[in-house]
Amino acid sequence: MNKVRVRFAPSPTGFVHVGSLRTALYNYLFAKHNQGDFILRIEDTDQTRFVEGAVENLISTLKWSGLDYDEGPEKDGKYGPYFQSQRKEIYNSHIKYLLDNDNAYRCFCSAERLDQLRNEQVEKNIDPKYDGKCRKLNKNESEKKAEHESYVIRLKVPEQGETIVDDIIRGKVSFQNDLIDDQVLIKSDGYPTYHFANVVDDHLMQISHVIRGEEWLPSTPKHLILYKCFGWELPQFAHLPLLLNPDKSKLSKRQGDVAVEDYRIKGFLPQAMNNFVALLGWNKGDNQEIFSMHELIEHFSLERVNKAGSVFNAEKLNWMNGMYLRNLPDSEYLEIALEKMKSFGYDTGEILKNEAIALSFKERITTINDLKEKASIFFEEGIKLYENEALEWIKKPTSQKVFSFMLKELENISEVNLDVFKKVMKNVQQQSGVKGQDLWMPVRAAMTGMISGPELPIVIEIFGKQKMEKLIDTAINKF
Ligand code: GLU
Repeated sequence: MNKVRVRFAPSPTGFVHVGSLRTALYNYLFAKHNQGDFILRIEDTDQTRFVEGAVENLISTLKWSGLDYDEGPEKDGKYGPYFQSQRKEIYNSHIKYLLDNDNAYRCFCSAERLDQLRNEQVEKNIDPKYDGKCRKLNKNESEKKAEHESYVIRLKVPEQGETIVDDIIRGKVSFQNDLIDDQVLIKSDGYPTYHFANVVDDHLMQISHVIRGEEWLPSTPKHLILYKCFGWELPQFAHLPLLLNPDKSKLSKRQGDVAVEDYRIKGFLPQAMNNFVALLGWNKGDNQEIFSMHELIEHFSLERVNKAGSVFNAEKLNWMNGMYLRNLPDSEYLEIALEKMKSFGYDTGEILKNEAIALSFKERITTINDLKEKASIFFEEGIKLYENEALEWIKKPTSQKVFSFMLKELENISEVNLDVFKKVMKNVQQQSGVKGQDLWMPVRAAMTGMISGPELPIVIEIFGKQKMEKLIDTAINKF
């Protein structure tokens, strides 16, 4: 078998859709599984869709995801990616070949004529398709007109027969040639369309497998016709299933975030995101859900990609991210958490205390950004939000009794540390007669506003006597 070479070929439209991340990831996994190459090719020949900063965003998103590409033209000592906008001459020489061999023709039809044609066809309920008017022009006529008229270049699609796409995921899919449009290959601005540049590049870059979203399947017969015109060997095709909202409609912004950047900003970990996205349409054949990148590379195969659409379940992503956070080694977790806390202005001035605070939430957060709200108890005067359950505990008569005794005990000491606190609680227990859960839960609720917040010893050490007194006071007043 030839060397496996695959490409991720996004058009930079401004943000990276999670579906695009999945395409990139599957290409990457397939390449690495087969010791092949993963190539990034920016498909930017549509000048009307240029978005400032889109390419930079795309590259930084891929970098965040850890999907490093293997090659590309060298610039400033770095590789790639390939940009189609820089390869115009290549497309020009290839279109010349098609024109010379009568596989393509210039079309001079005006936008108005094409609009009218389209409207008539829509009215008659026919799929819109170019009627071939300029197909009939002979070579001389066409060349003459080209000297002073603007034109596009179209593919001469065979009028009969069928084109069969042999897809690794979908099997054989056949298309009637007479229903295929004479696709524009070169636009009037001289730039190639997606279809043309894509096929020329896939061939020249020796792409062995074209792995892309299902939405490109209807374009594939046009691509196959192009390969045939050039006499090129076909790559293998694999069209990935659609991503769906939970209501089975096509995944859209309206029902939640679809940009990878949104998840990145929200504090999701790239390794959780990759794991989650890998399972959107692929499984190993058993129930395993947690995969390291290494394991994904080891097990990934296109044969195990589903045909059916895959539902994007945000709840599952949350769960997975929380799990990845919990499983991080403390040192790695702290690196991320402390930087985040710093960005929120959360700094006790003592590194050990900052670390203790961050670690106290490691088991209790879904994304690292949750630290903003959760850790706020350490950095704000009072507690912004009490959980309902915490309030219920606070309001119990036995709890109120505990609070009163605690305040009295605290009056007699100058500062609290863990040992002092233990003594205080022992005395409170003896005097109030309240013990066990009824003793500890209200204190936890009053101190943190949470039921399963950070451990009390950490809270006590960091809060100190004054803050404790104040919070107990507040808890008494909530009664
Ligand atoms: N430029 C196309 C896109 O934006 C690439 C499709 C393909 O992989 O062929 O998705």
